[in-house]
Formats: sequence, C-alpha cells, structure tokens
Amino acid sequence: MISKPVTPLEESVEAPEDLKLWEVSADRDFALALHGGAGGRIAELADGRRRDFEAGLSRAYRAGEEILRSGGSALDAVCAAVEVMEDDPLFNAGRGAALTADGEAELDAAVMTGDGHAGAIAASRYARNPVRLARAVMERSEHLLLVAPPAELVAGWDLSVVTPEYFVTEARRQQLVRLQDRLVTGPRHGTVGAVARDTGGRIAAATSTGGMSNQSAGRVGDTPIIGAGTYARDGLAAISCTGHGEAFIRGVVAYDIAARIRYLGSGPAEAVTATFQNELSGRDSSGGLVCVDASGRIVVAHNSPSMFAAYPNKGKLIIHT
Ligand code: ASP
Repeated sequence: MISKPVTPLEESVEAPEDLKLWEVSADRDFALALHGGAGGRIAELADGRRRDFEAGLSRAYRAGEEILRSGGSALDAVCAAVEVMEDDPLFNAGRGAALTADGEAELDAAVMTGDGHAGAIAASRYARNPVRLARAVMERSEHLLLVAPPAELVAGWDLSVVTPEYFVTEARRQQLVRLQDRLVTGPRHGTVGAVARDTGGRIAAATSTGGMSNQSAGRVGDTPIIGAGTYARDGLAAISCTGHGEAFIRGVVAYDIAARIRYLGSGPAEAVTATFQNELSGRDSSGGLVCVDASGRIVVAHNSPSMFAAYPNKGKLIIHT
C-alpha cells in the first residue's frame, strides 16, 4: 500500500519582524562584504569599543578590497579580509576567539570557491590563521574537512604555527568566568566571514570562528560545515554566516539561500528573507550573514540585535554595528 504523502511544504513568504536586511546593487566590477559576527555585542559597544570594532572591520575590508581592485581573486580577497580579523583580538576568530567551557580555544574555519572547491578545519589549535589552514586543506590535500589538525601538518604546509595559548586573551577568560557564573546571558556568538566577487566574475566565501563561548570541548558549529555556515556556487551566490550554529546546520542555511536562487529563481534578498523566515526567525534562532550573488549584488542581513558588517554603497564604505 502506498502511504499518504507527508504534509507538503508550507512556507511563509513574509519577512520576519526581527529581520534587518540591506541590499546593494553592483556598481563596480568587483564586490566584497564581510561580517564580524552577530549577537550580543551591546556590552562591548557600551564599553567604548565600538570605534575599535569599526577600525578592525575597516582594515579587514581594505585588505580584501585592495586585492580585488588590482585584479586579484575572490578567494585571495576573502582570505585576506578574514585573516585581518583573525589577527585582531577583538573578534571571535583566531587570537581572541571565544573559549570552550574548559578555557581552550578550538577554532573552526572554511573556504569555498564558486567552482566547487572547498576546505575546512574544526577544533584547530595550532595554525595561527585558521582560514589559511582551511585553504591549505582545499589546495594541498585530497580532503575537505580536517578535525583537530596536528601541529606537524600545519608546519608541513609552511603555515605559521603557534601554541594554543596564543589564542587565549584575558578578555575572553573574563567573559568565560562571567558566563559560567551566570553574570551574563544572551547570545554568545561572533564569528567573522567574507564573501567576494572578483573582476573575472569568480565568487568565494570564507568564515572563521572560535564557536560559542562556553561551548563543550569538541563542539563544532556551522562555520566549517559546507552549506551551513559557508557556501559558494558560480552563477548563484557566495554566503558566509554567523549565529547560533546548531540552527544554521539544521536549516542548511547558506545552501538554502543558494538553492532558492537556483530552483525558485529568487533574487538574493528574497532568498535570504525566505530562509530567515523559514529556517531561523520562524524557529526562534538568531544570527546573520553576508551574501554576494553572481552579478555582484550584496545582501547583508541579521535577525540578531546587532551584527558587525562592512560593505560598499555608492562608493562609500558602510560599517554596520
Ligand atoms: N556560528 C558560530 C558557531 O555556532 C558562532 C558564531 O557565529 O559566532 O560556532
């Protein structure tokens, strides 16, 4: 007997009330957008760090833009932008990353190019720049995702090796204590990422994170999961996400956006809106993302209270906090 089909997919096409979204049409032959994490940054901003975050975002954007302006690849641009934020202890990636409940930094990162190549690492502890290691996995190995890559592997690929303590800052230690003493609550994320389209029409995405503060040792979020936190596909879009990783994995958020563009013919803003409604806001999860489509159109969106982002609009750099 043929059983009754499961309930057909019923989707809301309404924009969720908590969604903040900006779309910028392509006005140059290259495009770049980056995020410095979504979530509970209100406290940091109130501490007078807003200027520092803005300066960090601007430095990261300039590093990527410089490459694109001189005809470099989208992949080089997203990696350069992410590296700047990994080196900046303010952001939750590389040095200054969020700590696990054991007080360790376990770093996740991924890169993907529109032609279908990808590399990722999870629970990385020795590569100074996790995004470089993710790229090396893509370019120098036959694998896609490595978990807890050993220091010897990092050194063997001529990447800078550091001890795990390098990543741990006093500010993050204090944040962990406050979280464990339940003195602060709310979102604990803040990943960094970038998407780009270069003058040759290639697109790429890169994302890097320490995960969520006070996460269990060994927990892996959406960042290194291709299709969840990071995705790129020629002709469609490149997407980098930040937020509650478990929700982004369940909703396969980055790929869901690309699939809406591919199969429904949605524009990027429409696709992002529908994904937020059906996979995030509608399921009580929060976060944000940056997206660039094949024509260079940029979408920046979040349903978290805040998100750090940098993107161009009419020749001006917009720093969004
Ligand atoms: N998405 C990241 C994770 O779940 C956290 C973040 O965006 O800050 O690991």
